Parts: sequence; C-alpha cells; structure tokens
Amino acid sequence: MWNVKDKVVIITGASSGIGEAAAKLLAQNGAKVVLAARREDRLISLKRTIEEQGGAAIYKVTDISSHPEVEDLARLAVDTFGRIDVLVNNAGIMPLSYLHEKKVSEWDQMIDINIKGVLYGIGAVLPYMRAQKRGHIINVSSVTGHIVRKSWAVYSGTKFAVRAITEALRQEEAENNIRTTIICPGGVMTELVHTVSNAEIRKDIEESMHRALPAEAIANSIAYAISQPESTAVNEIIVRPTSQE
Ligand code: NDP
Repeated sequence: MWNVKDKVVIITGASSGIGEAAAKLLAQNGAKVVLAARREDRLISLKRTIEEQGGAAIYKVTDISSHPEVEDLARLAVDTFGRIDVLVNNAGIMPLSYLHEKKVSEWDQMIDINIKGVLYGIGAVLPYMRAQKRGHIINVSSVTGHIVRKSWAVYSGTKFAVRAITEALRQEEAENNIRTTIICPGGVMTELVHTVSNAEIRKDIEESMHRALPAEAIANSIAYAISQPESTAVNEIIVRPTSQE
C-alpha cells in the first residue's frame, strides 16, 4: 500500500509505541529498517518479528543523548545498506511536572533526549544525505509543540524546539533535495505515560487514555510522508483523536 519499498529508514525509539509501529509498517511494505533504542531485548524481538514476516531489519542499541552512539548508528546503516533514505527522529520522553517541583534531572533528561537527540540524529545523517543529494528527515514533535498547558512547560518547550529546528533544517537543506516532515501526534496509546513521575498528572493522563489513538495511526502518517514523490515534501502533519479538544 505504501511507496516505501527498499528505502533505508533509521527509526529511533523503535523499542515501543510509535517507533515500533512505524518499523513494522514500513518493513511490511518493503523498507529496510534500522532500529535504535536502549532496550536491547525489545529490539531483538522486533527484528525477529519483522524477519518472520519477510522484512529486513537490523538494530543497534543506542542512547540518542550520546552523540558518538548516534554517529555510530548512522554509520552502521550506511555500512549495511549503502545509504540512508530516511531518518525518523522519534525517541522521546515526557516526564511532565510543575515548574515549582524543580525536577532538574527530568528537565535535563528531556532536553538531552527530546532536543539534543534530535539534533544528534540530524547531524549524523546530514553528511550522507547531502552527498547522496537526497534524503528525508522526519522529526516527531507533538500537539504540545503547538499549544502549552500547565505542567507541560519543559516537555512542550522541547517539542516547540523540534518544530523550530525542523523548519530551519527545511530551509537550509531544500537545495540539497532533503525533505523534512514534522509529525505532531495528539494522545496516542503508548508507554510514554510511564515516564511521568508526578502521580497526579500521570493519573489524569491515564484517565484520558481511553480516547487515545493506536500507535499505528501515527505510523500511517509517517508512511504517508515517505511515500510521496521525491519532489513532494509533506512538511507537517497533526494527528489527533477526533474527540480530543
Ligand atoms: P514510548 O514510550 O512508547 O516510546 C518512546 C521510545 O523512545 C522508546 O522506544 C524508548 O526506548 C525511546 N527512548 C527514550 N529515551 C531514549 C534514549 N535516551 N535513547 C534512545 N531511545 C530512547 O512513547 P511514544 O511512542 O508515544 O513516543 C514516541 C514519540 O512520540 C516521542 O517523541 C513522544 O514525545 C512523541 N509523542 C507521543 C505522544 C503520545 O501521546 N504517546 C503524543 C505526542 C508526541 P528505550 O527506552 O528502549 O530507549
């Protein structure tokens, strides 16, 4: 159904949720996927599932807040498959809290993973994509990259940053035939809520989960953006549950 056959796609945060769903969908449609995350058992199991379904996958345990590890990930993709067609910068965490709680370590982690991780991914693949004179970088932001609510300060800040970084990237690399896409999901049923340490906020989110989208809905958006002809860049997609305000 999707026009992704033989595309080499690196997916960060492939061990669960949106990244896992995207990896499965793209591989089912003939893409060669490079899976990255920290939990090796999940990556091994996903690679096995993809291969059992006739797909092609490799994995590399990668902490995207480590610049050298992300560089190694891009190099592995090129060494194995000869090029990088798409990077899906999807890995992220969402430890929401109120600013007065002063959860400095969580602020630092969000900035390291949600912003620096995205930058490291871009930095790692750009030299290859510029040399190829083609490429596609998909960065997962959020509806919270458009609107802010109480307790979302730092998380929203990182997702606004992802949109800003992606727009600058679009302008800088248009002449090099590198497409950019920002994906902004609303509520999606994944493990992301597990990263919320504030019990009251976590309970509120869990109570709203009944209306959340399946991760496959976002995987479809990613596949749609990749499937377009090379001359067409889908620059941003917002996908919410219909019932989400
Ligand atoms: P999950 O928690 O299911 O997935 C997050 C993924 O990120 C996991 O695979 C995790 O793997 C990976 N990850 C976290 N930290 C790191 C790290 N340091 N290095 C490498 N990988 C890391 O959540 P989602 O699938 O929902 O989240 C995917 C993206 O979607 C995130 O950017 C999130 O902000 C965004 N999003 C999600 C929404 C939702 O409602 N679920 C709404 C809007 C945006 P591991 O722990 O194995 O490293």
